[in-house]
Amino acid sequence: MNADAQVDQRHRVVVIGSGFGGLFACKHLRKADVDITLISKTSTHLFQPLLYQVATGILSVGEIAPATRIVLRKQKNVGVIMGDVHDVDLVNNTVTSRLLNQDTVTAFDSLIVATGAQQSYFGNDHFATYAPGMKTIDDALELRARILGSFEEAELATDQETRDRFMTFVVVGAGPTGVELAGQIAELADRTLEGSFRNIDPRDTRVILVEGADAVLKPMGPKLGMKAHKRLEKMGVEIQLNALVTDVDARGVTIKDGDGVRRIESACKVWSAGVQASELGKLLAEKSDGTEVDRAGRVIVEPDLTIKGHPNVFVVGDLMSVPGVPGQAQGAIQGGTYAAKAIKAELKGEKPAERKPFKYFDKGSMATVSRFNAVCQVGKLEFSGFIAWLAWLGLHLWYLIGFRSRFVTVLEWAVSFLGRHRGQMAATEQWVFARLALEALDSPEDARELAKQLGTENSSGNGKSVANTKAGPAA
Ligand SMILES: Cc1cc2nc3c(=O)[nH]c(=O)nc-3n(C[C@H](O)[C@H](O)[C@H](O)COP(=O)(O)OP(=O)(O)OC[C@H]3O[C@@H](n4cnc5c(N)ncnc54)[C@H](O)[C@@H]3O)c2cc1C
Repeated sequence: MNADAQVDQRHRVVVIGSGFGGLFACKHLRKADVDITLISKTSTHLFQPLLYQVATGILSVGEIAPATRIVLRKQKNVGVIMGDVHDVDLVNNTVTSRLLNQDTVTAFDSLIVATGAQQSYFGNDHFATYAPGMKTIDDALELRARILGSFEEAELATDQETRDRFMTFVVVGAGPTGVELAGQIAELADRTLEGSFRNIDPRDTRVILVEGADAVLKPMGPKLGMKAHKRLEKMGVEIQLNALVTDVDARGVTIKDGDGVRRIESACKVWSAGVQASELGKLLAEKSDGTEVDRAGRVIVEPDLTIKGHPNVFVVGDLMSVPGVPGQAQGAIQGGTYAAKAIKAELKGEKPAERKPFKYFDKGSMATVSRFNAVCQVGKLEFSGFIAWLAWLGLHLWYLIGFRSRFVTVLEWAVSFLGRHRGQMAATEQWVFARLALEALDSPEDARELAKQLGTENSSGNGKSVANTKAGPAA
């Protein structure tokens, strides 16, 4: 490159991740004199807070996950690249991403890393085989197929024990996601599916919410936690507190609590108990000048959200560890916006040493428990019930991207909440088995073992048999 070209080149910003942190950083830079490359391993901006509604047949994927490049198409200073970033070179200032077998190297002057977090099984990753988490579109669709598939298998069961196993749903973790999911599975069974089977009554469904701590929604405080607890119990959800899940297999979960070790027989399990930061956090920390990660793998950032020795590398959102900032959308939005502002200020001549530290503004938190019922905390103000539900509704519509998404979502909510119907009740066998089949491609031996456990191994012993089986959600 000649000297003139270097003079002409605009400041290059690379943003990794198209979630709340990444997207809001890009949007905040829309008028800046920079060239932005947004790299993400998913093609959409996923609104994770409504994933549970995709899993329970209320919303379609399209409403909560618009294509990122279409969201940003009018912002001419952004280019979008799809790829899984697997390396960051802090000496030459490049990131390397991979799409299928093709590596792409992208240079940056400033880098914003917003790759979020995934499910944590606290060292028991094999639980994931039978108890998927709720972090991605694939998770939500798999879960929908597992939930609806369980009812189908229950309808065909020839003995009561099997029927009970298929009609028992275990949700592990009573944080907002667990509470919302448990409530929605109960409403799905009681309202939407009621009367649509001939051999089973969906109202006999058991939904069990298992929590290791001593309260539901513990971070929201005892008052709101108890409100949610009572509401869930009124809906028939069984809540088991101080109960640790010590094993998960195809046929159920093993639980240890004050009474000892016991089993819950259940075909359909969901894991919403913990988070582990994206692996890029550890990689960045190792390559920096002494930055560390916390127990969940989040990067312990400097007060300006950068890593030690690299004031041009920002880490935001669920990947950053900042005292007092929860792993919530607001933390990511404010972190992404802060990084974008710092880059703009630098273009105007501000030195990194002059940056004011990142300050989080807590706008509160909320969770829905059922239709027309939510709990909400804003500062010291705590409220619940219908008013909280309206606040939840308005806020989620506000942050959904695009007029079409908002419009269709309102229609779907009207159908689901005012009536009994849900518009997204399609599910296929592939959704149940695709994840396991992809893993099986990597490890045929494990696949054979898994197929044996599921009782579905075909006669060829082919390691991919999991995908070919006609068995239901968890056999
Ligand atoms: C089920 C669920 C419910 C939630 N409910 C609420 C709620 O009610 N209220 C609330 O405030 N918060 C809620 N949250 C939390 C909130 O969604 C997160 O805090 C927020 O999404 C974090 O934003 P982020 O940008 O840091 O990460 P994410 O939104 O997770 O985005 C990460 C992005 O990085 C990409 N990526 C990851 N790794 C790579 C890689 N190696 N290379 C390239 N791209 C990569 C991903 O594809 C994704 O686009 C919920 C989360 C979940 C999972």
